[in-house]
Amino acid sequence: MTETLKEIAARVETGGRITVDDARILWTEAGDDLLCQLAGIVRARYHEPDRATYMVMRIINYTNVCVAQCDYCAFYVLPNQTGGYVLTREDVFEKIDSLLEAGGDLVGFNGGFNPKLPLHYYCDLFRAVRDRYGRDVEFYALTVAEFMYLADRAELSYADTARELRKAGVHWVTGGGSEILTEDFRARHAKFKYTVAEYFEAQRAIVEAGLKTTATMVIGFDESLDERLEHLDRTRRFQDETGGIFSFLSWTYKPYGTAFGGREVTPGEYLRHIALSRIFLDNVRHVRTSVLTLNEDAFRALDYGADDFDLPIEDEVTQKAGARIDTDLDRLLTVPKAMGYRVEYRRAERPLLVDAVN
Ligand code: SF4
Repeated sequence: MTETLKEIAARVETGGRITVDDARILWTEAGDDLLCQLAGIVRARYHEPDRATYMVMRIINYTNVCVAQCDYCAFYVLPNQTGGYVLTREDVFEKIDSLLEAGGDLVGFNGGFNPKLPLHYYCDLFRAVRDRYGRDVEFYALTVAEFMYLADRAELSYADTARELRKAGVHWVTGGGSEILTEDFRARHAKFKYTVAEYFEAQRAIVEAGLKTTATMVIGFDESLDERLEHLDRTRRFQDETGGIFSFLSWTYKPYGTAFGGREVTPGEYLRHIALSRIFLDNVRHVRTSVLTLNEDAFRALDYGADDFDLPIEDEVTQKAGARIDTDLDRLLTVPKAMGYRVEYRRAERPLLVDAVN
């Protein structure tokens, strides 16, 4: 091991923080053994080494109509094109009922920037879900990106939009729609999807309104190492400033049927990325691994610093781009158990917000 790697390793071992330059060196020079070892040290600050937690969840894609036109998306349909849909309330309830039957309790609502859906559509939907399911189900109401579009459409500030959602029973707006948080990446692939500065402004308003949020990151487009590191650095800074991020979830881009195309990153690259993220994001409690896009390979990330994962039963966005969901949950769980992990179900946190309906 080089002297520089030894210095970086010593810093992690003694509870210190690595810099962006350190992270670049770890990525280019460290072997998997060292990355696993250092990620394990940071993981152990938060979690028992042999314990992993999971949730059974379903993404409900309430509409596929979207004006953002991200070139890496195989899911959206433009307004007035054929094939666009908006789910009815009954469709949504049916999907939640079948999630409960499958043993899950977490829903993630995720759709497009649909110009025909006003703020009250969302508030009515979320209120109806709370009224019907109470605390049996928790839901991620929107991603930050959808939240921003919604606020713009309603001509409300981010703060006022967050307050309206909270009154409708919303607890969570997740950090989705981030992909790679650099302005260059946005300009190359998603120029109608807000700037990175706007993204964090909205997420800050979400946190300040008392809602819970998460951080996400998608790798495998054409992003450079520096862009990945900038994303991680911005995330860590935001967490230093707000403390609002509950977890960090990274998954891999699925290229099939998208305008951008490309190819998938290997599981090996994803595992190293998870380890580097765990080491770098020393202020985020949970690092989650993506069974949705990696299937059984995702469990290997538990040895690379991840501590938590979803078992999804549906997500049309990634399925349209090539994700294959395995719904044999009992069989899937045998994999981390065989790796030596005690695997426990984690119910989504249900914060008691005084002005929410539940
Ligand atoms: S990724 Fe999301 S915002 Fe972008 S086009 Fe697809 S649905 Fe729209």
